[in-house]
Amino acid sequence: MPLVNMKDMLAHAHRTGYAVGAYDLVSLHFLEGIMEAAECDRAPVILSLAESHFRHFDFTLAMAATVAAARRASVPVAIHLDHGESLQSAIDAIRLGCNGVMVDGSHLPFAENVACTREVVEMAHGCGVPVEGELGYVPGVEGEDAKLHPGELSMTTPEEAAAFVAQTGVDFLAVSIGTVHGRMQGTPRLDIERLAAINARLDMPLVIHGGTGLADEQYRALIANGVAKINYFTALSDAAAEAIRRNAAQGAKGYTGLTEGVHVAVEAECRRMNALWGSAGKADACLAACRPWREVEHLIIYNVAGIDEAEALERAEEGRRVLGAIPGVRRIEHGVALRPDARYRFAWLIRFAAPEVVGNYRTHPDHVRFADEKFRPVAADRISIDYEVG
Ligand SMILES: [Zn+2]
Repeated sequence: MPLVNMKDMLAHAHRTGYAVGAYDLVSLHFLEGIMEAAECDRAPVILSLAESHFRHFDFTLAMAATVAAARRASVPVAIHLDHGESLQSAIDAIRLGCNGVMVDGSHLPFAENVACTREVVEMAHGCGVPVEGELGYVPGVEGEDAKLHPGELSMTTPEEAAAFVAQTGVDFLAVSIGTVHGRMQGTPRLDIERLAAINARLDMPLVIHGGTGLADEQYRALIANGVAKINYFTALSDAAAEAIRRNAAQGAKGYTGLTEGVHVAVEAECRRMNALWGSAGKADACLAACRPWREVEHLIIYNVAGIDEAEALERAEEGRRVLGAIPGVRRIEHGVALRPDARYRFAWLIRFAAPEVVGNYRTHPDHVRFADEKFRPVAADRISIDYEVG
């Protein structure tokens, strides 16, 4: 149940002066460790899945476990697509259960970043899902040595940030003020004055990528100046690897022996950050400030006239394909009544990501075409109701 609206969660953090850990997960061990830490610390948490990591695991399967973990949590949880690479990535992520998305156009020139981000915002807001944009370039790759990916650091300016937010409608902004993705040598120098100016100008939750390896007082300065979400992966990855090396040194041979305790190592590192960033102990206050994430079951029961059963099922198959691709549709099922004498022979069960999807689905051109040409003319005898669920 405590899957919550991420916009409410980060607004609470921003307003009351703490940052939520957005921990990238790459395996069940990470998922377990992150959630154990959040539960022990009574901390709100963001389960983050980065598209650059999708070659390490099956995103669809990982999302099933991630949604299950969020739904059984007692602390507020949001599920976020980190560094989505395209509009389609964001659509897919929302279909699989992400209730926050980031599409990263920060490597593009300003106008192109605006255009690509705005497209994602229009789609995601139509699904009730908030969007993180990034302006200014944070070089490097999650979990790798920063010096292997020496991109040009390009810092965010307050003027550009204000224009970007106004033109795109993003809900959170990742800023570049000196951090680098991955492992760095030495402590990065942060431009806190720049951050303070951006925060004063925008007054919205700011996000830091490349959160690994900062000094404690640097984290505190970030949070004091508007940072409400910190993306964190490299240190978790290193802690997990250290646990595996320790097991190997003690003679562990098989996979289960080598990975024994990885979730404990991840948990310990998350707990350290939850305490440092002030999210520990905030679960109840945050939960009270957040709308729960509710989905919608769009239920249609119907009979056909003028076509036979085989044709009805063929059209249902087409509907499943066409309607299932509309943004905000999480699941689409078509069924035939078990009993031949049922009052209604067929059913559609269509799960929407959020109530906002209902109207947008109805007016989506693919839905309009299918409904007008293939469904309504043969299914006048029908009942259709939207139920809020979850
Ligand atoms: Zn990042």
